[in-house]
Amino acid sequence: MARDVSLLPKAHLHLHFTGSMRPATLLELADKYGVHLPEALTSGEPPSLRATDERGWFRFQRLYDIARSVLRSPDDIRRLVREAAEEDARDGSGWLEIQVDPTSYAPRLGGLIPAMEIILDAVETASRDTGVGMAVLVAANRTKHPLDARTLARLAVRYTDQGVVGFGLSNDERRGLARDFDRAFAIAREGGLLAAPHGGELAGAGSVRDCLDDLHASRVGHGVRAAEDPRLMARLAERGVTCEVCPSSNVALGVYDRPEQVPLRTLFDAGVPMALGADDPLLFGSRLAAQYELARRAHGFTDEELAELARQSVRGSAAPEGVRNKLLAGIDDWLGD
Ligand SMILES: [Zn+2]
Repeated sequence: MARDVSLLPKAHLHLHFTGSMRPATLLELADKYGVHLPEALTSGEPPSLRATDERGWFRFQRLYDIARSVLRSPDDIRRLVREAAEEDARDGSGWLEIQVDPTSYAPRLGGLIPAMEIILDAVETASRDTGVGMAVLVAANRTKHPLDARTLARLAVRYTDQGVVGFGLSNDERRGLARDFDRAFAIAREGGLLAAPHGGELAGAGSVRDCLDDLHASRVGHGVRAAEDPRLMARLAERGVTCEVCPSSNVALGVYDRPEQVPLRTLFDAGVPMALGADDPLLFGSRLAAQYELARRAHGFTDEELAELARQSVRGSAAPEGVRNKLLAGIDDWLGD
C-alpha cells in the first residue's frame, strides 16, 4: 500500500495570502460584508482560468482582488492565517512561508505598518496554536513602480526578527523587467532576507535567468520554465537554487494543459531542487499534499522520490535548524514505516 503523502513532513514555500483562503470562509466573509461574489467564486468548483494571455491573467487578478476585498479587519486576517496553518498541518507541512504584499491590505488596516504588524502577529499566534512553524515573505508587485518595491523592501527588513524571512516579486512576469527591481532586492538581501522572486511561469527560461542575474535570487517562485534550458537547469542545480514549483497552479492557469506536462521529472532528474507549493488554493482548488499526490500519480514519483522532494522543500526553506532537523528526521520515519 502506498504511503499517505499528507503524513509526509514537508515545508510549504509558495502560498499567497488571500489565495490561501478556504472557499467557505470567502463565502462567509462576503456575506458578512455584503460583497457580491461572481459565480466563478461561489460555484464550489475552481474557476476556469487561462493566464497565458493578458485577458486571462487580468481575469485571474480580478477574481483575486474580489476575494481580497473580504479581508477587512484584524480578525479576518487572524482567521485567514489560522486556517491556512490548519490546512497546512493537515497536509503534513511543518513549516509554512506565506507570501504577502501588505500594500493591498493597508487601506483597510490603518496603513502599511499596522497591516504588517497585524499580519505578523496573526502568523505568530497561528504558528503557536497549530504547531506549524511559520514565516512571512513580503512580496512586491512588478506591475507597480520599482520605488514602491524599495519601500516594501525597507519595511520587510525592519521585521526580520519578527518573522519576515524573504522578499518576493509577484504578478505578471511579462510586465516590466526584473532588473527594474534590482535596488529593492539589494536592500532586501543586504538586510538578511532571502530573495525569492517569481520567474519562469508565464515567461520562459529567460525570466528565470533574469531572477538569477539581476536579482541574485536564492529561490525562484515557480521557475518551471527553466526546464526549457538544460544549461540553466545545471546552473540552478549547481547553485542549489530551489524552484517553488506549483503544478496544480500551472495547469489551472494554462501554463501547461495537463498535469503530465508539468516538467517535474525533467527538473528532478537535472538535480534542480524543488519545493512543491499550492500557490492559490482558493482559486486552483487543491492544497499542498495534492501537489505531492500529483507527482506520484502523473509522474510516477516513488515514495523515495517523494521523500526527496520533501527534503528539498525543507532544505530550501528559511526554517531554523531545529525545525529543519525535526522535519528531515520525520521524512526518514515516513519512509521507514
Ligand atoms: Zn505565486
